[in-house]
Amino acid sequence: MDRKQFLKSMAVLPVAATAMKLEELNKITAPFSTTDKMPVLFLGHGSPMNAIEENEFVKGFREVGKTISKPAAILCVSAHWETKGTFVTAMEKPQTIHDFGGFPQALFDVQYPAPGNTELAKETKSIVKKTELGLDYKWGLDHGAWSVIKHLYPAADVPVIQMSLDYTQAPQYHYDLAKEFSSLRKKGVLIIGSGNMVHNLRMVAWDKLNAEEYAYDWAIEASTKMKKYILDGDHQQLINYKTQGKAFDLAIPSPDHYLPLLYTMALKEKNENISLFNDKAVRGSLTMTSVKIDTA
Ligand code: ZN
Repeated sequence: MDRKQFLKSMAVLPVAATAMKLEELNKITAPFSTTDKMPVLFLGHGSPMNAIEENEFVKGFREVGKTISKPAAILCVSAHWETKGTFVTAMEKPQTIHDFGGFPQALFDVQYPAPGNTELAKETKSIVKKTELGLDYKWGLDHGAWSVIKHLYPAADVPVIQMSLDYTQAPQYHYDLAKEFSSLRKKGVLIIGSGNMVHNLRMVAWDKLNAEEYAYDWAIEASTKMKKYILDGDHQQLINYKTQGKAFDLAIPSPDHYLPLLYTMALKEKNENISLFNDKAVRGSLTMTSVKIDTA
């Protein structure tokens, strides 16, 4: 049946039959059919300049992208979208948000025109019971999402939705919330947390000679402990980051860049592999350490 004939048949059907037809049609066209379980990523995004620079981190993103079969869509929890209540973007064409200042024009010129996916936003809303997820039509893709996803899928041909961080909630909320949408992994959805495990911009070591590779002692201490908890599967220690002492206090002065890690870790199931990449500190107070969770 071509489109014209289809519309014609819809026009003459009674209302109930039309509804049924639409439901059938949705089933046929539903993009989220059952797939192999998709991996989960935590990407240390660092400076927005990583969007346009060529460096080892960008290479790391590109390499990890090649190890993953092309997703039906991406759900990204970005450090750069904090709201009261949890929202998912539901617009069809998310704008590229340049949410930073003081960078070269070339960075402001970047557009990442990946489509949104209203269906995925609605599906996510329907499976989450912990809270009433809000559908957002105003945000778009902030640099926490596009500056890294751009390297995984340069053609911008994978739909992307974002989920916000509810700044009124405790760490456990974020971890528990992520567990509720784990079933999306079996529907071809690549879930990405984008932040930085160690992220203290006030203490950036601009003055150090080899600032690129320099790390403060406290940054190394916090990073080493975090990685141990990640690899040991000791998630409760990661959730209780506020009681881990001075090094963690300095590494996580505000929760925004750390919380996306909890979303990623919550999605790890027993017997799954976990590996680190881009595991380096930059400019004293920042780590680019990224995580991939993969089916065994
Ligand atoms: Zn950031």
